[in-house]
Amino acid sequence: DLRVRIAPSPTGAVHLGLCRTALFNWAYAKKRGGKFILRIEDTDRTRSTEESERAIVEGLRWLGVQWDEGPDVGGPHAPYRQSERAEGHGKQAVSLLGSGHAYRCFCTPERLAEVREAQEAAKETPRYDGHCRGMDGAESQRRADAGEPFAIRFLIPEGSTTIHDLVRGEVTFDHKEIDDWIMARRDGTPTYNFVVVSDDVAMEISHVFRGEEHLVNTPKQLLLYQAMGYEPPRFAHLPLMLGKDRKKLSKRSGDTSLGDYIANGYPKAAIVNFLCLQGWALDGETEVFDVDTFVEHFDIENVQKAGAVFDIDKFRWLSADTIRRMDVAELSQEVAPFVIQAGQMTADEIADRRDWFQRLVAGEQERIDLFSEFPPRVRPFFEADDAVTFEDQAEAGARKHEGRVETLGRFADWLRGRDASESAEAMAAAVKDWVKEEGLKFPALFQPLRCALTGMAGGRDLFDCIELLGRESALARIEAGQK
Ligand code: GLU
Repeated sequence: DLRVRIAPSPTGAVHLGLCRTALFNWAYAKKRGGKFILRIEDTDRTRSTEESERAIVEGLRWLGVQWDEGPDVGGPHAPYRQSERAEGHGKQAVSLLGSGHAYRCFCTPERLAEVREAQEAAKETPRYDGHCRGMDGAESQRRADAGEPFAIRFLIPEGSTTIHDLVRGEVTFDHKEIDDWIMARRDGTPTYNFVVVSDDVAMEISHVFRGEEHLVNTPKQLLLYQAMGYEPPRFAHLPLMLGKDRKKLSKRSGDTSLGDYIANGYPKAAIVNFLCLQGWALDGETEVFDVDTFVEHFDIENVQKAGAVFDIDKFRWLSADTIRRMDVAELSQEVAPFVIQAGQMTADEIADRRDWFQRLVAGEQERIDLFSEFPPRVRPFFEADDAVTFEDQAEAGARKHEGRVETLGRFADWLRGRDASESAEAMAAAVKDWVKEEGLKFPALFQPLRCALTGMAGGRDLFDCIELLGRESALARIEAGQK
């Protein structure tokens, strides 16, 4: 049976790398009718938090990734939180001691520090020197019985291990490069490489797809599968997500957490689309596709080996493109929280003035790349008529025109004479004739007028502005702005 999983550690914000790994695993299982499992690896008790686990569950759900088994939905292999599976882990460590695949290490932290320092001084790669490796079984037992603290180390045999990676092909590790790694610490707590295998076996995981940073762990885990007598799963290591500096994407190279991008107003479809492109491509040409297309075409064998450079410009472009293709009602719903957060309108006001709000949104649809760009662009519509903020560039543009006060006065008279129910489109057409009749130049009217109405140098159609403001308010602004 096909069973894949993600095993995030709940130690902070929801990283985009986790989101990508989740999408790839989920798509693989979904297309093939397999099961996708969420297991929380919270063995690091000091760094794991419930809040982070909640954020992971909520963030991945928000993305649209669904798991069949997990801590929140249960399943036949519960519990799905590693810290709740400790009993099984303890038994396995003891049995590996018995079979000679693991041994007790009584070395104190002080001794290990000394060994490390000496190795560093000699410019050697720090590693365990094997001090307790050959200890006689009876002595080991006696010291343990006497209450001396010990760690349990996995004994790396001589030889080499080859990973048959579904993305990277064959990767061989010489065992000389691998330390006798610690399975359980002196305080009894198990380590990642141990429990991940134990839990993947217990949960009958058939495929492990995870970030390339774990490639070095895989030979350790394969040796453990062997020692425990279990068939290992198939492995695939997804290329690292790299910053522009070609180093692993980190806080230094920009925002890395899902929450940052949501808060910045990237649409969900753009986030998913962008993540799918981190190490995978539809056909080498088509960059814009939806999640169903991804699920339909994704295969682990099509994942690239080379690191995926995080291209923020492309991300923004995908965001803008997604916004352009939304219908106005949907876009209005998406920008509403940003408007509320900016204190421009309440949720009730938005609901009460639905048509007005959608019109406000429609005028910016071609102009914003992110939802968060909306509130600053519609600022004038929430200011008092006599307190519009004039941006420097708008004022400078308006002041270039001699006689602007008089021009605005004549325009105000013209506007007062128009039928109040006239549409913005009809007014825009009529004003063209009027400007010609009056012998005016368009900029001589429009720059001062735009400045008076919105205080901005550019933006949406002016008659659209007048309609949104209402004629009274527009006239009051023209009055107030005449200086
Ligand atoms: N807890 C590990 C992580 O967060 C899981 C790695 C794995 O998938 O084995 O990266």
